[in-house]
Amino acid sequence: MRVLIIADMEGVSGIETYEATVRTHPAYAGGVQLMAAEVNALAEAAFEAGAVSVSVIDWHGGGGNLRPDLLHPRIAVVPEDLGRGYDVAILSGFHAMAGAENAFLSHTMTSGLALTLEGRPAGELALLSRWAGEHEIPIGLVTGDRATSLEAETWLDQTPTLTVKQAVTWDRATALPVEQAHRALREMVARVLGRPDRWWVYRPTRPVEALVRLQRATELAARIPGVSLEDGSLRVRLPSVKALIDLIDVFTALMRSEEQRELLEAIAADPAAGLILERERARRRGQLRRAGPWPSR
Ligand SMILES: [Zn+2]
Repeated sequence: MRVLIIADMEGVSGIETYEATVRTHPAYAGGVQLMAAEVNALAEAAFEAGAVSVSVIDWHGGGGNLRPDLLHPRIAVVPEDLGRGYDVAILSGFHAMAGAENAFLSHTMTSGLALTLEGRPAGELALLSRWAGEHEIPIGLVTGDRATSLEAETWLDQTPTLTVKQAVTWDRATALPVEQAHRALREMVARVLGRPDRWWVYRPTRPVEALVRLQRATELAARIPGVSLEDGSLRVRLPSVKALIDLIDVFTALMRSEEQRELLEAIAADPAAGLILERERARRRGQLRRAGPWPSR
């Protein structure tokens, strides 16, 4: 049994603040410890249940959050490639989609993006479960905050979930004590891996039809071949979910570039650049407060 863990950070047990998930913040060091501890708990339970290998994709912010020195020595951190042969996948430490209610750090892939897939609102759980489905990999378990579990009931209705925290506000949560959460995670992994007959493969409908709403750079994005503009949303039709994930990464880059271009224009308009720093700070604070699709995955 080859187990794959796709590990995000927002829904990791014990992480209760936005800051603990942000690389540049001092609180991130604590988040890194908690993320590694959770992946270790899952992996140890998987090995006890008979896994011959446990591979981990570090999904948060493009990777680099899982420090090898903190991980169980038999865990392999692997690239974002599902074609390497896995029997079952666990989605751990996840968050709900952009716009979800009572959700901790809800967003879809990046700040300022909302997605509709197969005609209904979708987030990363939908994308990852269907991407796994393209490779015939079933999803055995989903963990995260309460809103993640609720979302899993709509997009992964055959898969058990484990809730380890509850949002207080968009950027604050109350989590189960870490020991208790890890105990629950281990028990759940033992139960799930012992019942392969209940693993479920979520195959996407093809071609993949999606609507993407961007906070900025919409016009630029609409110029990409295969993307069309429709009532302010971008309509895309693609051969695979992986192609959609890759396209969303391009949209993210376009949004970043437009943001940077606006900043450059502001500096050009004010050579003394006196207010730039203050304005950037205010913008970032504003992003934090909004209950919407904000920080990056
Ligand atoms: Zn993340």
